[in-house]
Amino acid sequence: MTAKRIDGKAIAQSIRERVAVAAQAFEQRVGRAPGLATVLVGEDPASAVYVRSKNRATAEAGMAGFAHNLPETTSEADLLQLVTDLNADERVDGILVQLPLPGHIDSTRVIETIEPSKDVDGFHPTNAGRLATGLPSLVPCTPFGCLYLLKQELGTLAGLDAVVIGRSNIVGKPMAALLTAESATVTIAHSRTRGLPDVVRRADIVVAAVGRAEMVRGDWIKPGACVIDVGINRVPTDDGKGRLVGDVAFAEAADVAGAITPVPGGVGPMTIAMLMRNTLVAAHRRAGLADPEDL
Ligand code: NAP
Repeated sequence: MTAKRIDGKAIAQSIRERVAVAAQAFEQRVGRAPGLATVLVGEDPASAVYVRSKNRATAEAGMAGFAHNLPETTSEADLLQLVTDLNADERVDGILVQLPLPGHIDSTRVIETIEPSKDVDGFHPTNAGRLATGLPSLVPCTPFGCLYLLKQELGTLAGLDAVVIGRSNIVGKPMAALLTAESATVTIAHSRTRGLPDVVRRADIVVAAVGRAEMVRGDWIKPGACVIDVGINRVPTDDGKGRLVGDVAFAEAADVAGAITPVPGGVGPMTIAMLMRNTLVAAHRRAGLADPEDL
C-alpha cells in the first residue's frame, strides 16, 4: 500500500469534540442545549444500529436527545403527526427520520413535512434546492463529511477533475453540488454510464457511492488520486458473520491512489460527526445566532 489511509474515525472524533465545546457555549448563551430528535420506524437491524449511534453521539456532544422508536405498523398519518409535533417543539433543533421507511409510508411526503430549518439530514427539497443554487442550507451529512475529508487532504479542490459514482439524492447529487461549489470539474457517473473505468481514470478525486462491493478496481484509479469510498457492503465470510467492504477494492486501489478512505473507519464516522455539526448549526440559526466558526 502506498496511499495515505485517511483516518475518518479520528477526524470525526475531533469534529465531535469541537461540537461538544460549541454546544456547551450555546447552552450557556441560550439557556438550553441544542436538541436532536431521531425517529426510527420498525426493526431493521442496520437502521437500529445507526440510530443508536446517532443517539449516543448526541448525548456525548452534550445535546438534548429525543428518541422516538415506533413500531413497523405505524401509519403514515401517525408519523406525519409526530413530525408536525417535532416541528413545533421549541426544544428540538434537528429532526432525523431514519431511512428507509417501511413500504407503506411515503418517505417523500415525510421528508417534505419536516420543517426545513430543522432538516439536519438536508433532504428536504428546500435544502436540496438551496444547496444547488449556492444558498446557505443544511447539507446532507454523508457528502458533507466526504467534502470535509477531501479538503483536509487536498486543500483547494479548484480545477481538479472529480468523478462521483452514484446519483442518489442522499449522496451522489449533493456530493456533485458540493464539489461544483468548490470549483472542481465534476462528472456524475451512474448505472448507464458508458466506459466507467476510463471515466474514473481521468479523476483526481473519486467518490464511490454505489452499493456494489469492490466494484471500483485498482486499475481504474489515476496514480495519486484521492479516493473516497462511501459504500457499505456486507460480504459473506467462512465464519458466517460477514465482513464490511466498500465500493472500492481497497488493497488494489491503495497501491495506486495518493490517499484513500478505509471501510469501515472512513466516511461512516464522518456522517455522524456532520449530523452533530448540522444540529449545532440549526440550533444557532433558529436562535438568531451566527453559525459557529471553525467546524
Ligand atoms: P442508491 O440510492 O442505491 O444509489 C446507488 C447509485 O449507484 C445509483 O445512482 C446507481 O445508478 C449507481 N449504480 C448502481 N450500479 C452501478 C454501476 N454498475 N455502475 C455505476 N453506477 C451504478 O445508494 P446510496 O444511498 O447513494 O448509497 C450508496 C452506498 O453508500 C451504499 O453502499 C450505502 O450503504 C452507502 N452509504 C453509506 C453512508 C455512510 O455513512 N458511509 C451513507 C449513505 C450511504 P442509477 O441511478 O442509474 O440506478
